[in-house]
Amino acid sequence: MPELPEVEVTRLSFADRIRGAAVRAVRLGKPLRWPLGVEPATLTGRRVLSVRRRGKYLLIDLDEGILLMHLGMSGSVQFADHLPPAGVHDHFDMQTSQGVLRLNDPRRFGAVVYVQSERDPLAVKLLGGLGVEPLTDDFEPEAFHRALRQRQASIKQVLMAGDIVVGVGNIYASEALFLAGIRPTVRANRLSLPRVRKLHQAIRQVLDKALNSGGSTLRNFSNAHGQSGHFQLEVMVYDRAGEPCRVCGTPIRMLRQGQRSTFYCPHCQKA
Ligand SMILES: [Zn+2]
Repeated sequence: MPELPEVEVTRLSFADRIRGAAVRAVRLGKPLRWPLGVEPATLTGRRVLSVRRRGKYLLIDLDEGILLMHLGMSGSVQFADHLPPAGVHDHFDMQTSQGVLRLNDPRRFGAVVYVQSERDPLAVKLLGGLGVEPLTDDFEPEAFHRALRQRQASIKQVLMAGDIVVGVGNIYASEALFLAGIRPTVRANRLSLPRVRKLHQAIRQVLDKALNSGGSTLRNFSNAHGQSGHFQLEVMVYDRAGEPCRVCGTPIRMLRQGQRSTFYCPHCQKA
């Protein structure tokens, strides 16, 4: 599943090239998770001002309106001067004066949704509940600690809920908790400020590393140039049940939390 680093790498791979482009035509394939919400033809003639990201949404700002794009479970974006005719899994093509933007999404949990502005009720519904961006200055340890003190759920589940901080999906939550030496089952409100500081730093570290490696968590991930992530993130615990901890050699354990697998080292993450 594309996580925040893959979405950001995707954004960086076409944002500059599409800026200023005029939309010439939009073609839809099979239905995605949500409908576009506007007749494709009405987008013709609009200009792309910028491409931003909020959580795992790409916000394609037009001179009128915004396209919210989500990659779902299996989506990937291409942007090129010319692309082959749309295939069976290509469900959104936007021809522009600077190239074709295409969403390929075999499982169709992704979407492209048109909204008039970020105040549009649909935009508020999709974006309004998102927590702070972890790689910006808004993500700050004291505020993070205050927010966690309000939660009794396990720290892993609170991170993954995304309403305090976005982008910490299953892999990154497991990895960050390992780096911070925190047991994933600890209740969020039990973490002291020094431990939250460590976690804050660890979250930044794992996301930065993934971002710098080109978006690395999806085996078949490729950015909008069609280049794949340079290498798989070298994970410390994720998906390593039974294998020795890279720090202490203790076998990594797996448990289920809220239908998701969590991986941790019982020695390095005692509490
Ligand atoms: Zn260990």
